[in-house]
Amino acid sequence: MQEFIRTVDTIEAFKFKISVMENELKNCNDKLEDKTKYLNNTVKEYESIKYSGNNEELSAKTYKLFGRLCLFGSVVCFLSLWVVYRNMGFLPEIIPLTAAMLGLLFLSIKCKKKSTYLFGVAQTERLEAEERRRKLSSHIQKLTREINELKATIFQKEQDMNVEKEKYFTHMTNQQELLEKEVHAISNYSNEAKDTKECPQCAETVKAKAKICRFCNYKFEE
Ligand SMILES: [Zn+2]
Repeated sequence: MQEFIRTVDTIEAFKFKISVMENELKNCNDKLEDKTKYLNNTVKEYESIKYSGNNEELSAKTYKLFGRLCLFGSVVCFLSLWVVYRNMGFLPEIIPLTAAMLGLLFLSIKCKKKSTYLFGVAQTERLEAEERRRKLSSHIQKLTREINELKATIFQKEQDMNVEKEKYFTHMTNQQELLEKEVHAISNYSNEAKDTKECPQCAETVKAKAKICRFCNYKFEE
């Protein structure tokens, strides 16, 4: 009976141990899920800033091209003015031509300024993105390493738990055998008890079928 009680406690201990292991495993899996989500977001951000500054650069190039066209137009106006003035002297047509030349020159200067500014913005954004990408990249490496470690830990914990469950199963099987033995022993004991009687004279235990007590020679009545 002592052994039986002890083994019942062992079952509780097994159950407790396995539940602790299951909790640890669940925690690890939750952590893995969180870290994987975090990694995916980081990778997304890393990819999204890959083309930072490209839009600004495109605008800057457009302004630059437009500015050059304006400058070219302005030069054409100036040359026409010069040719007209040299050959024909002052004509009223010179006034709108001069205005066009000055307007185009003004526009070309504006475009040049705008394009220089946008090139600057593009470069700043690129540098910032590059810096951010460097940080993100090392972060991604760290996260990947941590995730791999976590996966290894989870694998180990699963193995350990399987071993523990195996032990528990073996223990339960033994328990069954032990119980059968207990039952057998108890029934043997009660059978033995049925096969004996107590001598009324000396109080010793003798076989039930005995007619004379083997200790005090007391005669049992039939
Ligand atoms: Zn006796």
